[in-house]
Amino acid sequence: MKHDDCLFCKIIEGEIPSAKVYEDDHVYAFMDISQVTTGHTLVIPKVHTRDIYETPADVAGELFARVPKIAQAIKEAYNPVGMNLLNNNEIMAGQSVFHLHIHIIPRYSDEDGFDAKWITRNDEFSMEELKEIAEKISSSIN
Ligand code: AMP
Ligand code: ZN
Repeated sequence: MKHDDCLFCKIIEGEIPSAKVYEDDHVYAFMDISQVTTGHTLVIPKVHTRDIYETPADVAGELFARVPKIAQAIKEAYNPVGMNLLNNNEIMAGQSVFHLHIHIIPRYSDEDGFDAKWITRNDEFSMEELKEIAEKISSSIN
């Protein structure tokens, strides 16, 4: 269950202090120490799982099931004008703590400290190419 040397397991256990927002048998939610925007919350499964690849469907289900009500509570408390959900996997994607977590990031303006820009390439792929990509992925779904 608990993973030695995992920061978030230690937070769940209370060995490292955190500002708790919500807790039940399956999840723990607390303030991200960096507060990219005010109310920035992390939701984590109590079971240690490294990232999305290692996460069993039932753990993912219990985790995500709690996200809407926590997001709703942040919305009521801080009245943001938007909300981003983010989950980083592997260093290249920005993961720095290797215990699965969902970031809930309330948004206040386009200069509020969070930026999720990407370059759209939707004029570069024909429907045939999109279907080829889809087929390559769907044939790997177990
Ligand atoms: P990621 O970079 O997606 O792995 O997110 C890890 C997040 O954990 C970062 O946003 C950090 O600010 C946050 N973090 C690191 N240490 C702590 C801590 N002790 N308490 C709360 N949040 C933390
Ligand atoms: Zn852990």
